[in-house]
Amino acid sequence: MNVLPETIRLSRREYAVMLHEANRKAPEEACGLLAGTNDDGVRTIRKIYVLENADHSPEHFRLNPAEQLAAIRNMRQNGLKPLGNWHSHPATPSRPSAEDIRLAFDKNATYCILSLAGETPVLNAFHIENGNVRKENLQIK
Ligand SMILES: [Zn+2]
Repeated sequence: MNVLPETIRLSRREYAVMLHEANRKAPEEACGLLAGTNDDGVRTIRKIYVLENADHSPEHFRLNPAEQLAAIRNMRQNGLKPLGNWHSHPATPSRPSAEDIRLAFDKNATYCILSLAGETPVLNAFHIENGNVRKENLQIK
């Protein structure tokens, strides 16, 4: 088993999309999907999908199911792979909550959490498997 942190890349442009949405939706959590490519284990997020938080909650999120299907279809049409999902923590740190861990069913997914709690936003990427959380090597450039 590979124990090195996975590398995942995100462009500044797509990060800006995520940050804009997180600020716009606060104090509710913003959420969406991550799509991109996987070349020899280096994953690159090429598109951030912004989806409705069907719960409209400041403490948890649920992706709008219809929008989720539409996003997956759009990924296929654009030759992109689903890489995971993202959501914001308007008032808590950038690490998975107990509920985030409980609801993380896909060990192949990257879970990005953008915190707005501090003076500057903090984005981290996580691998969650069987309740264990490991930080991935996220590169924003
Ligand atoms: Zn969360």
